[in-house]
Amino acid sequence: MPTPILVLNCGSSSVKYQMIDVDSEAVLASGLVEKIGLGDGNITHKTNGAEYRIDENIEDHTEALALVTRAFKTWGPPIESAVAVGHRTVHGGETYRETTLITDAVIQGLTELAGLAPLHNPPAIDGIKAAQTALPNVPHVAIFDTAFFSTLPAEAYTYAIDRATAEKYHIRKYGFHGTSHSYVSKKAAEFLGLDLGAINQIVCHLGNGASVSAIRGGVAVDTSMGLTPLAGLVMGTRSGDIDPGVFAYLEREAGLDAAAVDTLLNKHSGMAGLADGSSDFRDLWTKVEAGDAHAALALDVYIHRLVSYIGSYLAVLGHTDLLVFTAGVGENDERIRARVVDRLAGFGIRLAAARNTPRNRVPTLISSDDSTVKVLVIPTNEELAMARETYQVIRAAR
Ligand code: AMP
Repeated sequence: MPTPILVLNCGSSSVKYQMIDVDSEAVLASGLVEKIGLGDGNITHKTNGAEYRIDENIEDHTEALALVTRAFKTWGPPIESAVAVGHRTVHGGETYRETTLITDAVIQGLTELAGLAPLHNPPAIDGIKAAQTALPNVPHVAIFDTAFFSTLPAEAYTYAIDRATAEKYHIRKYGFHGTSHSYVSKKAAEFLGLDLGAINQIVCHLGNGASVSAIRGGVAVDTSMGLTPLAGLVMGTRSGDIDPGVFAYLEREAGLDAAAVDTLLNKHSGMAGLADGSSDFRDLWTKVEAGDAHAALALDVYIHRLVSYIGSYLAVLGHTDLLVFTAGVGENDERIRARVVDRLAGFGIRLAAARNTPRNRVPTLISSDDSTVKVLVIPTNEELAMARETYQVIRAAR
């Protein structure tokens, strides 16, 4: 008997979904609704090797979910076969430390947390309500990007600012991409046949958003993202770490208000900000090959920041067994991996060039046999991880 779980990832103007059978891990259907509330929406739905599309105006998440339901009804499989729905929810704050069965009280709690993630949580809440209307007879579960990092020790999550202010406004490091870091670290141990509880890992999730984590015996002890997903590594369009003095300076000197600084750092910074709008690494390399100095510096800054974090986590962990690369850049870009690991030669960490192949679709060991730390590429699968988490919660609740 298959156990299909529908996983939903609702952004401000999009809904991504997959129906996954958690027994066989088969993707029964997947799809994307785009341009919600922007006038010219569309849905693409894939199942059984075929791809379908409808173009129509989609006002809000309720209409988006109605369209998803229609796509399943028209092209299959039956949406009613889903035994539960898992919702990606970016910020769990201090309240939600693990995957949680959604009740009215949870929706209220998430609404109260919206200020911590104004771009991400409100669409997720809209998506939950719309999905509950579309699928009222199955349990709905929230999976939090922050949950895996709820284990960080106080010394790692505490910011050195006035304690009363931090407490009042819940200002601390939360960490994000937790579903991916958790999935990838477990998969790495499984791939090598090692006991997760007995090894230390540094996981680099390098996609459009990027974060790195230090994981001791399967438990997260530090990560690069913070109160928001803006902190840490240089990303596609996000600055990552920056001197907090820049905020007041820009306000004073450039007359930028908080919203303008937020937009600058989230949307016009990172690789795009440094390399004249290019945030995709394929474009960046093309520019570098054509002699573009801005793109070359962007890559240098990216590598420098990442190596600095890895070095820091080598110190935090004391002993590190695995260095793992995942997500769009981590899985596909062998040149970035080579440049990072080259800089770690002083720690005895070495790649085997022949193993460092581009576009890894399966777990791959890429370090040399004499490397002090095993270096791996582990493709992430956040949808499968969310489906599994959802299933665990509903099984426990039965
Ligand atoms: P993600 O957010 O994990 O989907 O990663 C998306 C990013 O991965 C893109 O913006 C690209 O920068 C990068 N990427 C995808 N494919 C490749 C590739 N073949 N080579 C280098 N980078 C890639």
